[in-house]
Amino acid sequence: MRLMQKSKKEKDWGFDVRDIDAKVRPQDDFYHYANGTWMKKNPIPPQESHWGSFIMLRYDTEKKLRTLVTKVQKMKNLKTGSSEQMVRDFYNSGLDMKQRNAAGLAPLKPWLERIGKIKDVPSLVSTFAHLEKIGGSGPWGLMVDQDMKNSEKYIVHIGQSGLGLPDRDYYLKNDPESMRVRTAYEKHLEAMFALIGKSKTEAAKARVTVMSIETALAKISMSKEDRRDVDKTYHKISVPALAKLARGIDWKSYFKIIGADGIREVVVMQTAFLKAVSEMLRKVSVEDWKIYLEWHLVGGSASYLSARLEKQNFAFYGTVLSGVKEMKPAWRRALSAVNGNLGEALGKLYVDAYFGPEAKKRIVEIVNDLFTAYEARIKNLDWMSAATKKKAIKKLYEMNRKFGYPDTWKSYRGLVIRFDDYFGNAVRSSLLEHARVMRRLKKPVDRSEWFMTPQTVNAYCSFGLNDIVFPAAILQPPFFSKDADDALNYGGIGTVIGHEITHGFDDQGSKFDGKGNRKTWWTKEDRARFDKKAKVLVNQFNQYKVADGLKVNGQLTLGENIADLHRL
Ligand SMILES: [Zn+2]
Repeated sequence: MRLMQKSKKEKDWGFDVRDIDAKVRPQDDFYHYANGTWMKKNPIPPQESHWGSFIMLRYDTEKKLRTLVTKVQKMKNLKTGSSEQMVRDFYNSGLDMKQRNAAGLAPLKPWLERIGKIKDVPSLVSTFAHLEKIGGSGPWGLMVDQDMKNSEKYIVHIGQSGLGLPDRDYYLKNDPESMRVRTAYEKHLEAMFALIGKSKTEAAKARVTVMSIETALAKISMSKEDRRDVDKTYHKISVPALAKLARGIDWKSYFKIIGADGIREVVVMQTAFLKAVSEMLRKVSVEDWKIYLEWHLVGGSASYLSARLEKQNFAFYGTVLSGVKEMKPAWRRALSAVNGNLGEALGKLYVDAYFGPEAKKRIVEIVNDLFTAYEARIKNLDWMSAATKKKAIKKLYEMNRKFGYPDTWKSYRGLVIRFDDYFGNAVRSSLLEHARVMRRLKKPVDRSEWFMTPQTVNAYCSFGLNDIVFPAAILQPPFFSKDADDALNYGGIGTVIGHEITHGFDDQGSKFDGKGNRKTWWTKEDRARFDKKAKVLVNQFNQYKVADGLKVNGQLTLGENIADLHRL
């Protein structure tokens, strides 16, 4: 049920019984009983794809961030390189539509030229590497993360990527919804190619090329259900073995450009995909790859360029794909870019203005209680053996808890942010972030790191770090207030905390031990009983209808469903 703030005094907020639809019997459909009237009174706003307490609080937080940024905009004599200067100029560069329109495609020029110079597979692969550093999309992606089987070490991971649509199914399925999206995507490709100066015939031809490459990539991609399985996505191999698996690629020079010079091992997340991609590099002509890269460069940069490109991009990804009717106002779009690129610089300003130490004290007490309750629940399970219970409780108490904001803020030192270069600001931010991530390879694992900014209304559980993290922005009404009655806090943020703890024991989280290593700590019999119970849940969710002809994918959503129920 949604909680509501009735007055300025947070003490007074609580359940609003006016949201209830008394015509629905709670024992038939509790969701519509509890929320029915609220849902009727609150249609989804035209600028959103969905609506509810999470999104409402996100919107509210954006307004607070806007107040902060507006204050910063008025500041005089800001030191170049200070958080305030970077936030102000990034934001202003996004708002300056006149300048962005005047610049047109000019900001992309050096990148388009680089693509234009590709003449063979080696120069194609080195361009993949350069684009990867700015967050661009080649057929595979690279990240540096903990080694799942040695959680004290970072290692390079290579994973499948390269699709313009969110999943391989859109290319391969022929149901009405996949066909609708695919047809609209083809039109979108043509429109984007036309916007970068191709003739109608050239644009149509380029569309065919992109669809052919992306469909081929879709066919060799791992399914989204399998991608969730940590065991199916872990193949640690040496660099010479990688060269044998994905032939014809000069991996040493690729790693050198990317900033991973001299590495000896990598984790390949989808071996079959990478092998097949290396074959595609030989089969598909270099000229076709160039068109493919051109599309990914322009598509990935559209929201930082002219109004025409941004609108066309929204028409497909916003409206066709997500059902959003209207583009968000300029301030929300620019703010989202600042959040994405300078997250912790803005986050520090947010925390200073809106997050106090008293909130942290109260939340720590609540979390302690939840751990005690969770321990009692583990002890009471009728299907888990005493030996596994002991290990589960050990893991539970090894779980690190993070609240509000990180102890050390990310440094943006050296980053150049200009008031008149929106795209360039994004590129330089990506390069800085890429370099930061690559430096992990030379360092021990940083267990204090955060993967969400403090101004994010969300929470997460990391299997590798074995921690649960609650950013400042979720620690506010309707989820939490330091002044609220206990019942409200346990019903609000308590639910979120229980959800995140449970992730550590869900179908994937339970494969990791308290140190974050992929390790079987269950007895065989307990694991079999767990899997049997999980299967019941998969089948249950497979029955739920979401829309016409569309049911929940029980296997894909298993982790979330286990976490929502807080236990098996
Ligand atoms: Zn979750």
